[in-house]
Amino acid sequence: MSRRWGPIVTGVALALTFLILLVLGTLGPDRPSRTGEVPVAQGKAAPPDWMRKLRDGEKPPQFVLFSFDGAGSHAHWQRVLPLAEKVNAHVTGFLSGIYLLPDHLRGEYAGPGHGRGRASISFGGTDAEVATRIDDLNTAYQRGHEIGTHYNGHFCAGNEPSGGRWTTADWTSELDQFFSIVRGAAARGLAVPENAFKGGRVPCLEGDPDEFLPAVGERAMTYDTSVTSEGIAWPELRDGVWEFWVPVIRVPALSGKRVIMMDYNLWYSLNGAKEEPGRDAEFTSVTLDTYRAAYQAAYNTNRAPLTVGNHFNDWSGGAFSRATEQFMNEVCVRPQTVCATYSEVIAWMKLQDPEVLDTYRTKPHAQVS
Ligand SMILES: [Zn+2]
Repeated sequence: MSRRWGPIVTGVALALTFLILLVLGTLGPDRPSRTGEVPVAQGKAAPPDWMRKLRDGEKPPQFVLFSFDGAGSHAHWQRVLPLAEKVNAHVTGFLSGIYLLPDHLRGEYAGPGHGRGRASISFGGTDAEVATRIDDLNTAYQRGHEIGTHYNGHFCAGNEPSGGRWTTADWTSELDQFFSIVRGAAARGLAVPENAFKGGRVPCLEGDPDEFLPAVGERAMTYDTSVTSEGIAWPELRDGVWEFWVPVIRVPALSGKRVIMMDYNLWYSLNGAKEEPGRDAEFTSVTLDTYRAAYQAAYNTNRAPLTVGNHFNDWSGGAFSRATEQFMNEVCVRPQTVCATYSEVIAWMKLQDPEVLDTYRTKPHAQVS
């Protein structure tokens, strides 16, 4: 198991480029919009028909977990929410906490080892921009989507001390501050309860799981989705926290080069993550083919839940967001396929006979050939 828990190799240059692009790309201009709406608590709809124990000989549904890091872009929520509705998908947004901290309150946040009011990404902007974001999160949550954490300051390699160097105490401080921001946002109308934040993804996938998982487990959170696996593998429980692996797979269009299946990593492997909007159609097509191949590999073999990790970005002409949206549009309506949130998959796993699930868990990880 240890081979899968090693540090994630990420070049400093890659992380720096990423940070710059993240700041430029993720927080587009948000339009202040409707505020003051009274949010309705998440409805208790009847459970979906797949939320049950498998019948004798029945295969697990192919779960696809769409997740969006940052979760602060109004424009992207406006695209994803109707699409998810149309194809009956539930998705997960990993919120960067400081997106809910207006600029004038930035001094309330101090990242571990960093000064007050400092971060590698923008703070929340104006009160109106924060209100818009709260509105989006409330709407997403009411529609059955899940909100988790992408922590706060987004300190990656090169902006030291970065998450890769943080101790459990540092991660605990980061989470304490995240929840303190969430409580502050509740006073501004955020209707996602504190105990609904059940898991997260660490920025740039940087962080030692031996350090951050205890901080996650300590808070009775139930999952993490920051650690890579070779191929597509079933989640594993460690110290009370389910790890939903981010798969490393072969990319067919890149002569089988192995890439972490996240939008940024795909972009980096395509052209070093340079803005080339003129190649957007090509990048969309390569990314879409990669997602399709990964899905098919899991579907045909171990049926391990497939994590599709994304940012709300417009990199290279929006090539990667478009690929994800197209994939969601086609895959979530396939037979024996369910686009669900992390907590939904955990609830489903709990309903299963462990021995039946083990027959799938112990199969070799699904690989794209
Ligand atoms: Zn991120």
